[in-house]
Amino acid sequence: MALASMKEIFERMAQNGQEFWEVVLADDMEERQVSREASMAKMLTTWRAMQESADSYTGRKRSVSGLVGGDGMKMRQYNFRGCAMTGGYVSEVIAEALSMAESNACMRRIVAAPTAGACGVLPAVLLPLCKYEELTQHQLLEALYVAAGIGEVIARKASIAGASGGCQAEIGTASAMAAGALVALRGGENEGEQIGHAVAMALKNLMGLVCDPVAGLVEVPCVKRNVIGAVNAVSAADMALAGIESRIPVDEVIDAMGEVGRRMPVEFRETALGGLAATPTGERLKRELTARHGN
Ligand code: SF4
Repeated sequence: MALASMKEIFERMAQNGQEFWEVVLADDMEERQVSREASMAKMLTTWRAMQESADSYTGRKRSVSGLVGGDGMKMRQYNFRGCAMTGGYVSEVIAEALSMAESNACMRRIVAAPTAGACGVLPAVLLPLCKYEELTQHQLLEALYVAAGIGEVIARKASIAGASGGCQAEIGTASAMAAGALVALRGGENEGEQIGHAVAMALKNLMGLVCDPVAGLVEVPCVKRNVIGAVNAVSAADMALAGIESRIPVDEVIDAMGEVGRRMPVEFRETALGGLAATPTGERLKRELTARHGN
């Protein structure tokens, strides 16, 4: 039976004496009828795909529209010059989120986590961390299982798609997955609780975010929204690890996000009829792209 709520994961942790990631692993084995080894091998393939995508980024590619490309490299160069106000890990998170999300827009290979539009968030918090901390491959796979479990719960209880729940469902879910994964890498005795608070805070902070892609392309504002998803994840994880709690329980936050998505006007759910897509510049870009490429 698939994971229906965060509460269910916490209960299984208590009942079976398992860590969060082990509950998700067991669920995957049951759902897909695969062995532990087969499940972990698939997760390793996912991790390697994220690494390869990051390693092969050059910043030279542009999207077909020409609106996106090269910003990940610009951010890396800015960081390299020591100019970033954030500095260190967080500035690399920003650069990685841009690079990965651009890679999607430029048709490079990425891992949809949970969707292609939000593909930059999870790798952006995990890949740079490997430079700062000695993380084993197994620890990283555990973190990916935690992220997968969070994504599964949100998909079942609410939505992970901009078309049905707005960008809060897409970037918001990716941010919650990344926040939980970070806590899992650092968590102590109260790991489950802290993951819950991190997920709740990450989702709350992006609640109401609309989906308004300019010209209907997953480029503007999508690439840069991956940055806010990633940085939001880091701050939510840090707050949870510091012992800061969400006053609203995580499952209630997920339900609230689902409700906001269902009541969101259709103009703000990937139709490109509202928000940034409907600005004078957004409309002009759409007209220009239509004239250049046709419908
Ligand atoms: S604006 Fe819409 S298409 Fe773009 S990342 Fe957000 S949900 Fe995805």
